[in-house]
Amino acid sequence: MPDPHADPDGGGLLEALRARIRREGPLPVDAYMRACLADPQHGYWHKSLAIGAEGDFVTAPEISQVFGELLGVWSAVVWQAMGRPSPVRLVELGPGRGTLMRDALRAALAAPAFLAAASLHLVEVSPRLRALQRRSLASSPHQPAGGAAWHESLAQVPDGPAVVIANEFLDALPIRQLVYGERGWHERVVELAPGGALQFAVGPRVNIPWAEPAPEPGTVLELRQGEDELIADLVRRRGMQACLIIDYGPAAPALGDTLQAVRRHAWVDPLTRPGEADLTAHVQFARLAARARGAGLAVDGPLSQAELLGRLGSAERASRLMAANPARAPEIEAGVQRLVSPTGMGGQFKAMALRTPALPTLVPFD
Ligand code: SAH
Repeated sequence: MPDPHADPDGGGLLEALRARIRREGPLPVDAYMRACLADPQHGYWHKSLAIGAEGDFVTAPEISQVFGELLGVWSAVVWQAMGRPSPVRLVELGPGRGTLMRDALRAALAAPAFLAAASLHLVEVSPRLRALQRRSLASSPHQPAGGAAWHESLAQVPDGPAVVIANEFLDALPIRQLVYGERGWHERVVELAPGGALQFAVGPRVNIPWAEPAPEPGTVLELRQGEDELIADLVRRRGMQACLIIDYGPAAPALGDTLQAVRRHAWVDPLTRPGEADLTAHVQFARLAARARGAGLAVDGPLSQAELLGRLGSAERASRLMAANPARAPEIEAGVQRLVSPTGMGGQFKAMALRTPALPTLVPFD
């Protein structure tokens, strides 16, 4: 049977990367990651269906409808805390298959005034995923009065008060890796081995402010420009802003190499078959919080995903759904359990909110 995940060009990106490295020299890790994910011809987000049982990985909204429903209710409550502005932008960064937003809109129906004030803004780079999102939302009987629009970045979303949701979005944005060497930090790069395979190497020295004690030689530090861009975009917007980030990574400051490649629900080497695996890296919540505060935003959390969903009422929502759909009860219970399991997603994933300081601490962080 033909492999539905195989690159139809037969390793086109590997060849293109080899040529680029011969021409330009070794690539910093962020340039490598950007090429693998976003190359317009061979990039992962442009040609893969990625998310779902038949894709490469499964995300929380695909596991249980309770996830998107709770975030829909959360959005409406946050809008009330903002003083019920109209219009309000309901923004999702990296909406995947559009499942979270469809479930969120269904739950937000409990607050019709919110839907009447809202317009929906989906920030998505992948044309294939945009098409799926459009289909998912078109099948939703509940639509925000302001309609839906797609954008390349948060910077393009019309100004004004916004409630922003980003589930497993930041982990997909490229990271630089710096390696600590004899004389300070060095860029980690991808180079060509003599046989033509890709391999990691230690590149040129880089100067960054570093107030902490010198780490062990070989220690890796990861930096993600997309996080700084998100913070800057939130700061630049007029009116109240609240952004909920849910992603995997440690709550406490941490160093180390967290770059991982996943293909068909299994870990693979990030340097073989570029463009055919999902490449992600941890979100470092402590550093993200410090940078957001430095830029003038207030920060709530992080909480574990288990705490977030528990406080938002996942158990009650699941019980109600199970009572209404007895035939699906075991499936509904297992899905919610998977999201809140402390040794699984419930503990690995964290939730943190960035907000305009004039807003009080957001639910359920208070
Ligand atoms: N939130 C979804 C999908 C997570 S996967 C879910 O929980 O199921 C990451 C999503 O971010 C995908 O939709 C991907 O296409 C999108 N994405 C990745 N890089 C992006 C970028 N630079 N700008 C906008 N969207 C991006």
